[in-house]
Amino acid sequence: MNTHIIDGTQTAHLFLQHLQNEVAVFTSAYGSLPALAIIRVGNNPESALYVHHKIKTFEKCGFPVKEFWFDESISSSHLEKNIQALNSDPEVSGIIIQLPLPSHLSRSVLYSHVSPSKDVDGLTPYNQGKLLQSDPHGLFPCTPLGCFFILKKLYGSLIKKRVLMIGRSVLVGKPLALMCLDDHATITVAHSSSSDLEMLLKEADIIVSATGSARLVTGHHINVGACVLDVGISVGSPLANGKRQIIGDTDISTFMGIASYCTPVPGGIGPMTIALLAYNTLKAAYIQKDDFRAYDFQNYPDLVFRSH
Ligand code: NAD
Repeated sequence: MNTHIIDGTQTAHLFLQHLQNEVAVFTSAYGSLPALAIIRVGNNPESALYVHHKIKTFEKCGFPVKEFWFDESISSSHLEKNIQALNSDPEVSGIIIQLPLPSHLSRSVLYSHVSPSKDVDGLTPYNQGKLLQSDPHGLFPCTPLGCFFILKKLYGSLIKKRVLMIGRSVLVGKPLALMCLDDHATITVAHSSSSDLEMLLKEADIIVSATGSARLVTGHHINVGACVLDVGISVGSPLANGKRQIIGDTDISTFMGIASYCTPVPGGIGPMTIALLAYNTLKAAYIQKDDFRAYDFQNYPDLVFRSH
């Protein structure tokens, strides 16, 4: 079995190059650029780093990005007022609230104040409902979309595929399970209270792991020819050069000769998430012009694979 490692960084790069052409079409039709507003609260260094990556990527594509930073002590009601101001700002197409938030703030309460037409994280009850109703005109979460983009490029249709989704969060597991179900896959969702994970892994054609449980899935767990997408991020002990070590839910060195396809961490699903955030920002800009479009990745470039 020849194992192909999907290069998320290069795939996202080509995706964003294509997206720039799509943005030019929008701009010539409507005379404006899609723009993203990022709300960040507190001094979490991980959040600051993620926001920095997003801003750099968006600026490369010519999308304006504005970061709104608030002190750790900000109240929910004060933040809600700021969200409402962004909802009515015509120069803002998309709004995201960078996670994690301080413990006195609730993600779901804050997202319930984001206008569904600007909800590029797909976390408002309205857009969650659109996904549940299989209505592709809603805005869906970016990490599951990044995984779904990869699966569509690999297989075209997921008909007859047995997909094992490990993790059942609102951010990743549940929305991705619904996307795959809508594309005719047979879905199993496993989580921390599931028994028999080893048996479920052996039955799957496609495994997506989103747990944050380091190296949960290895080559000896899976079927020959299975495809494994790794969403998980754990921080391991520092490397010899002092840099922090990012570990996924899988150990891809153990997949060689067994898996058909796999994604590395870092450089797999992470860059695809940012690429799909840019896609959603453009889609949101169209929605605000009452120009509703379904997700359509057909014209986007194919996946890039990297050597072992
Ligand atoms: P979460 O904590 O909300 O959910 C984790 C899920 O995994 C839960 O449903 C839990 O039941 C399940 N789980 C945990 N340990 C398990 C185990 N040993 N066996 C089976 N199931 C187990 O997290 P989340 O927001 O869904 O994120 C999951 C992981 O993905 C995290 O590591 C997060 O950092 C990462 N993540 C990465 C990206 C990206 O862009 N690459 C985006 C979002 C999340």
